[in-house]
Amino acid sequence: MEYIEGKAGRESGCIFCAAKDRPHSATDLILYRDATLAVLMNRFPYANGHLLVAPARHVADLCDLSAGENAAIAAMLTRCTTILRKHLKPDGFNIGLNLGEVAGAGLASHLHWHIVPRWHGDHNYMTILAEVRTIPEHIEKTFEKLVPDFRNREGGKRKSRLTLNRSTTRS
Ligand SMILES: [Zn+2]
Repeated sequence: MEYIEGKAGRESGCIFCAAKDRPHSATDLILYRDATLAVLMNRFPYANGHLLVAPARHVADLCDLSAGENAAIAAMLTRCTTILRKHLKPDGFNIGLNLGEVAGAGLASHLHWHIVPRWHGDHNYMTILAEVRTIPEHIEKTFEKLVPDFRNREGGKRKSRLTLNRSTTRS
């Protein structure tokens, strides 16, 4: 059951492994969490609505993911863009991941995708944001805006359970 408990990942300082038992947490900026993955808001965003999607398991590399985890994360990335479009109306997105510290990963030991909403002319916006990114109210306001859409998902719950069954081994 290490998969579900995430025992291997209970490292101090891993934001993705913190507060595993809480589906949502404004303190930890956790928008969504199930047995397969978690969605967090980046505390040090490049833009408003900068989200992080990570597998529940504390793994560092793409090849560590099961097919089920890959599929669940891909679906969640899509869902995040839908929710961000609805609330923040960005003109586009940068979505990707940094593998390894040399590639710029802030927390290289726990794989995570970045979703950065983009707006026309947001270079100026990002400069402005850099000055306010230490103000927590700004992020918390966006958190409150987004979290209801991550809460209301009965169909998604069923899907996650299926994903878990597929990707869990009987060891
Ligand atoms: Zn972790």
